[in-house]
Amino acid sequence: MLLNPEQSRILFQDALEHHYAVLAVNADSPAAITDCLEAARHCGSPIIIETSLWQLTGRSFSAGDAIAGLTNYAIQLAQRANAPPYDELPILLHTDHIKGPQTVELLTRAIRGLPLGLNGEIHSVSPSTISLDSSELSESENIDIVCRLCEAAQVHQRPVTLEMEAGVDDGLTPPDVAQRLLRGVEQNFPDCVWLWAPGVGTRHGLSECGFPEFSAEAVERHRLLAREITNRDIGIVLHGSSGLSSESLQAAVAAGVVKVNWSSESLKSRSAAAADFYKRHEVQLRPGHPEFKQTSMDNGVQSFVSQRYVPVVADRIELLGAKGKSMAAMARIRKG
Ligand SMILES: [Zn+2]
Repeated sequence: MLLNPEQSRILFQDALEHHYAVLAVNADSPAAITDCLEAARHCGSPIIIETSLWQLTGRSFSAGDAIAGLTNYAIQLAQRANAPPYDELPILLHTDHIKGPQTVELLTRAIRGLPLGLNGEIHSVSPSTISLDSSELSESENIDIVCRLCEAAQVHQRPVTLEMEAGVDDGLTPPDVAQRLLRGVEQNFPDCVWLWAPGVGTRHGLSECGFPEFSAEAVERHRLLAREITNRDIGIVLHGSSGLSSESLQAAVAAGVVKVNWSSESLKSRSAAAADFYKRHEVQLRPGHPEFKQTSMDNGVQSFVSQRYVPVVADRIELLGAKGKSMAAMARIRKG
C-alpha cells in the first residue's frame, strides 16, 4: 500500500521504536521498481522507492519533463503498490535529490497531488515523503525552500512529511548548523520535518575503503538534538551508504537511522549484471540466430538482471533489520 505523508510518520516511528531502518532505493526504471517491490515482498518488509531528478527527466518516465516524469513515476508506483501482491506492504514514494530552478514548482505540484487517472476517474497522488538536494544551497536558501514547501502544503491543505538535509558529504554536521536549520523551519512551520539527514561521515558515490570518518555517535547526537529542537521523534536518514561496512550500517540503525538511501551500489549491481548478460549472449544477438528475439527484447536483459539484483536488495533489507517488519507496521498504520 502506498503510504500517505501521515502514514509514513507512523512507519518511521515504528522503525525507531523497533530498531530497524527502511531501505530507500533510487530506482531508475520500471524494472528496477519491480525488483525492489519483489525484494520487499520476499522479505515481508517495508520499502521506500525514491527518485532523484535525473530519473524523472530520463527516458523511463519522460524525456526531459520532470513534472511529467514525476507524474508517470507516481502513477506506476501507486497502481502497483495498491494492488496484490504488494498491497499489504508499507511502500513509500520519496523525492530524493531534487534540485535546480524547478525545485519549488515540482515539489509544490507533488504536495498538491499529481493527477492519477484510474478506472476512468481522476484521483491524485502525492509522494509519501519529500526532500530536496541542498548541497548547493546556503543555509538560508535551504530554510527558505523548505518553508515555501510547508507553506504550499498549508495553502492547499495537504499533509506533508519532509526530510531536511545538511551537507551530507561535508563530514560531521556541527550541532549549531542543525540548530539553525531545524529551528529555522520549526519556528515557522512546526510538525512538517520528520526526517533529518545530517553529515555523519559518509559520502555519496562508491568508496573503495569504506568511510573511516563515519560516526554512529554523531547519528545518536543528531537524533537527540533534533528531538530537543522539535519536541518529537525525528528519524535520522543516512545518505551515501554505498561502501559502508555492515557493522557500521547496523551501528547506524541502532543509533537512530530509520531510512537508508541506496543508489551507487544498486546501480553498480544492475549495470554489471546487464554488461554480463550482453557479453554472454553475443552469439544469440546476431541476426538470424533462433534465440535473437527473446534475447534482444527488454525482458531478456531485465530478467537476467533481476535474478542477480533482487537477492542483493533482500540482503540489504535484512541487514537493516527490516525483514519481517511489514505486518506489524501495517497493523499500526491501519489503526492510525
Ligand atoms: Zn543522497
